[in-house]
Amino acid sequence: MYRIVASINTLLQHLDSLANSPVIYRPNACPHCSYGKLWCHGCYERKADRHSPTSDSFNPIPIPRYLCLGCHQTCSRLPECIAPRRWYDWVIQQTVISMLLSGCSLCGCSRQCKLDRRTIRRWWHKLQSRRHEFELFLRTRFPELGRSVDFADFWRNCLQTMSLSQAMAWLDREGVIVP
Ligand SMILES: [Zn+2]
Repeated sequence: MYRIVASINTLLQHLDSLANSPVIYRPNACPHCSYGKLWCHGCYERKADRHSPTSDSFNPIPIPRYLCLGCHQTCSRLPECIAPRRWYDWVIQQTVISMLLSGCSLCGCSRQCKLDRRTIRRWWHKLQSRRHEFELFLRTRFPELGRSVDFADFWRNCLQTMSLSQAMAWLDREGVIVP
């Protein structure tokens, strides 16, 4: 759906880009009808800063929105550091997935990361349920990943080659709905 703007890896970088070069967020075409004319349509807000103490928090984080002049639907663009449809960012998700790939149990991972076990299980199952689609696209683009022998091997190699957010931004650009 081309929803993610790649290479914007921190919230500070996002706020700076939005203020100084907002044009990089504007989609070339509407994700609903492919029409090529979109107008800026304000921002919506996300509480994406999960790391800073309240006094230094960047929240709320503005997310730019666009209105299609063809079909009159809106769309938005997220910086790579914010995960679509998820409360937690990619960095936390990558930490969890890497631990599970290394053989850590759901309970152990939950304890160490201080995250609900159900949340961790949902991320893990989601990655497994989409694995064939994700792996197909990633193998096509990154042939070195083709040598992986199974699910765990593939994602271990993938996360050594690139971050989870980079992999997801690349899939998004190919039209794959992530995560
Ligand atoms: Zn449209």
